[in-house]
Order: sequence, then structure tokens, then C-alpha cells
Amino acid sequence: MKLAVIGGGAAGMMASILAARQGADVDLYEKNEKLGKKLYITGKGRCNLTNACDMEELLASVKSNPKFLYSAFYGFTNQDVMDFFEQEGLKLKVERGNRVFPQSDRSADVLDTLKRAIKKAGVQVHLHTEVQKIQPVGGPDQKPSGFFLKLSGDKSVYADAVFVATGGLSYESTGSTGDGYRFAEDFGLKVTDCCPSLVPFNIREPFVKELQGLSLKNVAVQVKDGKKLLFEDFGEMLFTHFGVSGPLILSASSVCAKRLREKELKLYLDLKPALTREQLDARILREFDESKNRQFRNVVPSFFPARLAPVMTEQSGISPDKRVHEITKEERMRFLHCMKEMELTVTGLRGYNEAVITKGGVSVREIDPGTMECKNVPGLYFIGEVLDLDAVTGGFNLQIAWSTAAAAARTVTGGM
Ligand SMILES: Cc1cc2nc3c(=O)[nH]c(=O)nc-3n(C[C@H](O)[C@H](O)[C@H](O)COP(=O)(O)OP(=O)(O)OC[C@H]3O[C@@H](n4cnc5c(N)ncnc54)[C@H](O)[C@@H]3O)c2cc1C
Repeated sequence: MKLAVIGGGAAGMMASILAARQGADVDLYEKNEKLGKKLYITGKGRCNLTNACDMEELLASVKSNPKFLYSAFYGFTNQDVMDFFEQEGLKLKVERGNRVFPQSDRSADVLDTLKRAIKKAGVQVHLHTEVQKIQPVGGPDQKPSGFFLKLSGDKSVYADAVFVATGGLSYESTGSTGDGYRFAEDFGLKVTDCCPSLVPFNIREPFVKELQGLSLKNVAVQVKDGKKLLFEDFGEMLFTHFGVSGPLILSASSVCAKRLREKELKLYLDLKPALTREQLDARILREFDESKNRQFRNVVPSFFPARLAPVMTEQSGISPDKRVHEITKEERMRFLHCMKEMELTVTGLRGYNEAVITKGGVSVREIDPGTMECKNVPGLYFIGEVLDLDAVTGGFNLQIAWSTAAAAARTVTGGM
């Protein structure tokens, strides 16, 4: 069995190893000068390679087409991923939120582990080699009996089966340029609309620029389309020169990405999520009572990080010079409202170059969920991010890459 794997990212590397171990003659084609450029930058250079949660949570973390992954996830679970790396000599650790990292905190060690396994399994790696076209062998109305790959440098090679593991469109500099979508369309397969996801938000209100670099650890956010609640969670976020980012916002983007292409949405921040409105009002009254003759501007910092105080003063609409005992109930309620429901306008998403993943891709309707093989093109498989699959942060996207890779490798070699 001659297998060609296109793309030396997470999915392509894992698929090559597992297929070669089972006796396939594997050629791995990577257009970059090295393997795993994106894997290297994952998890801020630490590589959150999977999540040690239970299967229910694993599936619930997938935002597009979770049902499609049922069989692949059970066929190569998060435990199987951990066992794979540990058996190859990489020590792992589990952090907050069940996120799994290498004990060394170095994504380079994950990559080296895969490269060693690739070598041991006898995979032939072709770097600097771009696959430009996949041509089926056989007449136009026949099922293909193999494929010719047109490579950069005017070469052509034959393969009995092809795995397309070319990734999505995010972080183009790592090699993800959407080639897999083109290959799919050449075979008449449907590719769903793509957009950046797990990506920061652009915000209209100019004051966010003043907060650039400020990180808030305990904040609750809601994203709404009119009255419709699209996302709600609690955690950490960050103000940037263009808007907002951080784990909470990235997660929000995976739910709102497609809608944001059509319209603006509202983001509401609760800066005091541990307190009810009544409790917060009591706290404000206590603080005001102790500082009756001080100016409002000097009391506000007792509620917030220093950077936030001037913005909150302005947002409340209360004169900064006003003595606290002169503040009316209505003004106090406005101040409280700003803290519990700071309103920001999300005008759009940042681009693919800041997006952790691509939402959309080769339609899973075209693909057999147990094998990753195209229903109408025997021998052609799609694995990893090129498929219309995506999950929230936490190691779930790499789990998608590993599991879909394993499903295809198992199939092409007749079981593992
Ligand atoms: C900054 C960042 C941080 C991330 N952190 C995490 C994390 O900690 N945990 C997590 O689970 N996920 C994380 N992700 C997401 C994760 O990296 C991806 O989901 C995963 O890499 C997808 O793997 P893949 O193999 O499908 O695609 P990729 O890793 O993108 O690999 C595709 C490969 O195919 C090659 N290629 C493309 N076209 C061709 C062609 N025509 N010929 C030859 N080669 C080609 C590319 O050069 C590339 O090497 C992160 C993503 C980013 C951008």
C-alpha cells in the first residue's frame, strides 16, 4: 500500500506514523522547510496537546459537527494520545482545566517526539515539497484506482491512497494556505464557508485603547445579538489596541464568528461577577459612606485596577470632582450598571493571522465519520483542521487532528 500524506502538521505526522507502523509505505509531503511549524507555536510554545476530560466533555467542546467525531474520538481517545506520547518517551502533565502539556513546557519536545517516531516507523519525509494537484487514475466516471500527485519542481508521483492534512487558513506563515479546500473542490466536494475562529474581537468604543494591555482575571462576559444570548462565561480577558482578547473572548468567538460577518454584536462585561447588584450597591454605599467628602475620582480606584479607574469614572457620567456625598441615587445606579454591565460593541473579528483555528472547511457530509474517507472518492481521505470541525481552546483542536488521523490510518492499513 503506497500512501501519500499531504501536510506535515499534527494530523499528517500522526497519520504517517500510525500507518507506517502497520506496514504502509508512507511518503509525507510538506511544503515548508521543516515539519510542524504550527505545532511549534501551539499553547504559547508549550503545546496543549490534548485535554484529560471525560468523553462527554470532549465531545461537548467541539463547536462544529461534534457528532461526526464520535467514532474517531472513541477510536483514538485523549488517553490514547497521552499513552502514545508517553510510550515515545515524552513525560506529560495535566494543568488547570485538564489541559495536558509536556512536563518540559516545550512544544519543541512534542515535535521532536513525533519526528523520532516518524523516523523509527520508516516514513519518507519530503520537505520543501508542495503538492499542487491530486489527479485520480481512471476515467471521469469511474471510481479512482489510485492517484497521481503533481509536486513542485514538475515531479509527479503515484499513490494508492492519499491523506489530505493541509490544515485551514489561520497563521498562513505556518503553511496553512487552504490548499486542501482546493483539492476537495477539484473532486467536486463541498467546502463550507470559512472564517477565522478562536480570534480576538474588534471593539468600536475608543476607550478600550486606553486599557491596552490590561488583563482582567475574574470577569463574566455575555455576547448578545439584540436580546438573544449567544455566549456567556466567566474567566480571563485582555484589552488590546483594537479591542479585546484572552481566553474568554477567544471562546466567545467560536460561537459568534459566523454571525459577526453579518452584523455587529454587543459584549457585556460584569466586572464584579461575585456580587449581586444588591451586594454591590451595599459595597458602594459603604465605600461612599467612609469617604463622604472625597471627590468621586479618588474613590473609584478602590473598586478597580488603577488603569481601569479613569475609564470607569468617565463611563459613569458622574463628574470626577463631585464630592461623594453629593452623588445622587440615580448616579450611583449608573456607576453600578457600568460595573455589572459594561457595554461594548463588537464590530468584527480579527483576521486569520490572529486566529487559532479556521471555522468551516471540507463538509463532513462528504466524509465517512468512521474512516475519514470521501464517500464518493475511495482512497481519498481528509484529516485534521481541513475538515469542517473546530473546538474551543484547551487541547481539543489537536485532539481532533490526532483522532481523525488515527481513524484514517487504521482504515488504510486495515485495522491497528
Ligand atoms: C497560535 C496557535 C496556538 C494553538 N494552540 C493550540 C493548543 O495549544 N492546543 C490545541 O489543541 N490546538 C492549538 N492550536 C490549533 C492547532 O494548532 C491546529 O488545530 C492543528 O495544528 C491542526 O493540525 P493540522 O495537521 O490539521 O494542520 P496544520 O498543523 O496547519 O498542518 C498543515 C500542514 O500542511 C502543510 N501544507 C499545506 N498545504 C500543503 C501542500 N499543498 N503541500 C504540502 N504541504 C502542505 C502546511 O505547511 C502545514 O505544515 C493552535 C493554533 C494556533 C495558530
